[in-house]
Amino acid sequence: MKYLILVGDGMGDYPIAELDGKTVLEVASTPTMDELCSKGEFFLNHTVPDGFPPGSDVANMSLMGYDPALYYTGRAPLEAVSMGISLASDEIAFRCNLVTLDRNDNGRITMRDFSAGHISSEESRQIIDTLETECSTRQFHFKPGISYRHLMIFKGTHPGITTVPPHDYIEQDVTLHYQNYLALPEWQHLLERSEAILAGHPVNLQRIKEGKNPATHFWLWGEGKMVNAPTLKERFQISGSMISAVDLLKGLGIVADLSVIDVDGATGDIHTNYEGKAQAAMDALADQDFVFVHLEAPDEAGHQGSLPDKILAIEDFDARIVRPIIQHLRDQREDFRVVVTMDHFTPLSLRTHVSDPVPTLLYDSREQIPGSGQLFCEKSCIEYDKRQHNAITRGYTMIDKLLERK
Ligand SMILES: [Zn+2]
Repeated sequence: MKYLILVGDGMGDYPIAELDGKTVLEVASTPTMDELCSKGEFFLNHTVPDGFPPGSDVANMSLMGYDPALYYTGRAPLEAVSMGISLASDEIAFRCNLVTLDRNDNGRITMRDFSAGHISSEESRQIIDTLETECSTRQFHFKPGISYRHLMIFKGTHPGITTVPPHDYIEQDVTLHYQNYLALPEWQHLLERSEAILAGHPVNLQRIKEGKNPATHFWLWGEGKMVNAPTLKERFQISGSMISAVDLLKGLGIVADLSVIDVDGATGDIHTNYEGKAQAAMDALADQDFVFVHLEAPDEAGHQGSLPDKILAIEDFDARIVRPIIQHLRDQREDFRVVVTMDHFTPLSLRTHVSDPVPTLLYDSREQIPGSGQLFCEKSCIEYDKRQHNAITRGYTMIDKLLERK
């Protein structure tokens, strides 16, 4: 028996006026998901527990069968794992974005760009290396990642301030959030010194000359301590693979002790290597029991507010990931159980995540249940779920259902 979880990140959405009140999932052509849904179970899954932010970290942790209340410490520790960084028990990993902040005449600070113009990895590595050389202390260390996404490892007790994701504050006043750090002497020193260094950094001077946003500051958020969680093998005696372009998912895969497969050309956007990811899943299933395939593109389109891209990303997910994998398993006459779902909604109208329970289909190739007879979309799931009097599934228990452990 093979088990699969196929995730279109952020696919869920709300009714859209220009689609005559339909959602993107209703409008997008998704024949394979519709077929599996009509013949399988269909239910709502509460991937973001009450009291948690609706992040991909929390939601995908639930999909992987980990109760966020027990295991979620923050986003950055998962990224640290994927970068091969192990945290000591007295260390906290912070996500460290390179950002562009504006200081206004009245002293207020505005978030111009959460990504410093999607600065390249080559440029940002020079900046992070300079910060590590000039500003690191026994307590603070900078670790280079990709593009604007880096880590800062802090040794000590949590500074007790609330951090916020910079992409939620585009063009907004972030003065208070920035000033939080200035109340702590060693943090104040770090911030002021780094600001002066970044202002004169050759990479930034060149970017300004080219009309690009410079990395005026680093922005810390998503912090947490090391994750201690049992592997999927320990819990369910299964081996498997994680296929994703995103560091966070790769980190989750490592925590779960899955084989983390790097697919050439997997970019996290609508130009990703769909065929490569599908092939990697089929190859993995040749000798493993479980595969988790994650597609970032619908979420990215949601954040950009692009309706055409979101439709395309969902149609490509269906036609170029779900369809070939299912067809392959059928050709191989392999028994399988597959969940097709999303981690959370990323409504185009909001351009950020929300924590609504997500439509989830569970199909068993042995077709032992009557089947829902439904199309795969939010409305049909909500109505069907209500008619069935299903209690909304608690996110992290979904894997028990998939693996027939309860
Ligand atoms: Zn997500």
